[in-house]
Amino acid sequence: MAIALDIARLNPNAPPVAATGAAVAAMPDEDPRLPLIGLTREQLGAALLEAGIPPRQVNMRENQIWQWLYHRGVTSFDAMTNIAKDLRAQLAERFTLARPEIVAEQVSSDGTRKWLMRFPARGAGKPVEVETVYIPEEGRGTLCVSSQVGCTLTCSFCHTGTQTLVRNLTAEEIVAQILVARDRLGDHPGGAAPEGAAIPTEGRAVSNIVMMGMGEPLYNFDNVKAALTVVADGEGVAVSRRRITLSTSGVVPMIERAGAEIGVMLAISLHAVRDDLRDELVPLNRKYPIAELLEACRNYPGVSNARRITFEYVMLKGVNDSPADAKALVKLLRGIPAKINLIPFNPWPGSPYECSDWETIETFSDIVNRAGYASPIRTPRGRDILAACGQLKSETQRMRARERMALGAMVAGTGE
Ligand code: SF4
Repeated sequence: MAIALDIARLNPNAPPVAATGAAVAAMPDEDPRLPLIGLTREQLGAALLEAGIPPRQVNMRENQIWQWLYHRGVTSFDAMTNIAKDLRAQLAERFTLARPEIVAEQVSSDGTRKWLMRFPARGAGKPVEVETVYIPEEGRGTLCVSSQVGCTLTCSFCHTGTQTLVRNLTAEEIVAQILVARDRLGDHPGGAAPEGAAIPTEGRAVSNIVMMGMGEPLYNFDNVKAALTVVADGEGVAVSRRRITLSTSGVVPMIERAGAEIGVMLAISLHAVRDDLRDELVPLNRKYPIAELLEACRNYPGVSNARRITFEYVMLKGVNDSPADAKALVKLLRGIPAKINLIPFNPWPGSPYECSDWETIETFSDIVNRAGYASPIRTPRGRDILAACGQLKSETQRMRARERMALGAMVAGTGE
């Protein structure tokens, strides 16, 4: 099948361009100023106080800045017109609002978009690159956000799992992925989507967020919690907690905290109904087996028929896709308010699995549907740009993998 690709590879030395066409300052590697993006309201207030804002003004300034940053999406203090010019200059000396560099933006033939963003070290370890994916659908636009660079968990069907963990993303870096997507899609008030962009015909371009990109969010709990608190705030980005889903591979001891302290929707990367198979597909299962994981789900704060837990189930040919597996899945989830998402496997270079046949997936889906579980088959999106579930990886890591493969081929060719 011919693949229609529209790859806008931006000049890495040039500042990225916002959807409005205005140049946006990217984060320089050595900027001593404190980034305001990603600070919670309390942290922002404390930073303003420390910057010399009189205590009686702190609340007002915090509200003003918050709305400029997260509701209007501005990237410069100059745009904050209800703040006096002198104070704006003072703030700009001390704080930065810079966005990450957009190294590449790819648009799939189905409208899915993927951005490769580069963040400077900023005291968080090393400069890193992460991928963020936007999936437009009828009536909604979902942004799949990364929480780590690489992952420690080596799930065998996942491309990210082949990349070693580089570091956790900071709250700033998590929130910035959402702001960049909104910039590029014209999703701030007065913004305009790029010509021909697929976005929902009504409402916001980014209406839903899933923490389902690179990494295990519950291994970066504090930063994910801070970032989602910022994003859910009703006076800023204002994506409600019911439209934010945190997906975990099953870090059992953190699941209760996630419900109590973050309060978003939960998704579990389940993928198998037996411990021996799940040990292989999701090696974390050896530490937290299925029974413990499901017990944590039963106790997830706020779980109800209106707030069901989503169980992700990747369809792997001849591995986990039999009718017996489907029946066992139904039995396993009995008593848990649940939805089941069937994900046709998205292959990546060197992946050890194949996607189940369509008929097999439909038979599986019929069995779980008949048992009363809504089980949409998630149509693969963005496969042509490696943007589908389990396909994300930083470009640097892809390059290294290609180099290793090329070197291997050379060595094989010389008979060494
Ligand atoms: S599925 Fe998630 S937890 Fe597993 S390796 Fe991939 S990114 Fe990590």
